Amino acid sequence: KRFGNFAAVDNVSFNLETGSLVALLGPSGSGKSTLLRMIAGLEIPDGGEIILTGNEATHLSAGERNIGFVFQHYALFKHMNVWDNVAFGLKMRRESKQKIHDRVTELLKLVHLEGYERRFPDQLSGGQRQRVAVARALAPEPHVLLLDEPFGALDAKVRDELRDWMLQLHEESHVTTLFVTHDQHEALEISNTILVMNQGRIEQTGTPLQIFDHPATQFVAEFVGESNFIDASVSEENLVLWGPFKFVVKGFRVGQNVRIYFRPDDVYVTSEEETLQVQATINRSRFRGAAMELDLDVGNGRRIIAHIPKGVFLASGFQLGQKVYVGITAFHTFGR
Ligand code: ATP
Repeated sequence: KRFGNFAAVDNVSFNLETGSLVALLGPSGSGKSTLLRMIAGLEIPDGGEIILTGNEATHLSAGERNIGFVFQHYALFKHMNVWDNVAFGLKMRRESKQKIHDRVTELLKLVHLEGYERRFPDQLSGGQRQRVAVARALAPEPHVLLLDEPFGALDAKVRDELRDWMLQLHEESHVTTLFVTHDQHEALEISNTILVMNQGRIEQTGTPLQIFDHPATQFVAEFVGESNFIDASVSEENLVLWGPFKFVVKGFRVGQNVRIYFRPDDVYVTSEEETLQVQATINRSRFRGAAMELDLDVGNGRRIIAHIPKGVFLASGFQLGQKVYVGITAFHTFGR
């Protein structure tokens, strides 16, 4: 999909399994909304195909695709109460009164809004409005549910509750769902597959665990989760030396510049001297809730960040300036 000369979605190809819950994760401007809008039929691709339940749908109108769409900003009908909002798509289809009654009742139960039938959108909280929007989108039994930053405008606590709610909803409804988010925690927590997008392309497709533990590209390593990174070169065959650390790497030439990433959670810190461990000094510690962040000096101005569970930190009695021993338990290497 191009806007003028600019490729907003560039050569993207993927397959959603029926019943899956998939996150489209990427920074602002990476093409997530454009991709979603093309699937919905709100934007026409310049090339390629969109296939829905096995049928070519590229040239179908939005109304012919049987897709549910929820936007970031509540697009409820302000002059209609909750019941009428949810019933809207069914009335348009001229479903029977009984069918409408049963389906709306079922959906309000599914989104935990029984008893709110007569309220108008301005009498609901932001989270409740988004749940009505989801119920309304699900009413005509769409093949696919598309959500564009559905919780983007809500505060952190409500977002958290809605994540749990969405997981439960998906377990009960089994509708193939694709949701856009730029929030990695949301993507990692809720989805069973993540598509990571950057500059109009898909960088990686995988389960949350694959994306987090085995980033396929530098972009994914930096965008998803926190990382330390080290720029160095391969000094001997399969070996990168960085101060006191030795990294065994494969698939790079001697002399090649590489960037090594490792998670703060993959830094092991202990006050006991153990084999192969590097000595470091605790420069600074920062409380992060469940974890403590330690800024470690490993000599000659080289610094790394470690996250250790708060309980481990308290039990070990670490102090600023203390000498500790560190090891890196997992890392990834990319050529530069
Ligand atoms: P965000 O998270 O900020 O919504 P996004 O990943 O959803 O970002 P898109 O909205 O898909 O990104 O936009 C992708 C790129 O295409 C952006 O650079 C945007 O400026 C551009 N773009 C989107 N819609 C149009 C349009 N109608 N005309 C011109 N350029 C557009």
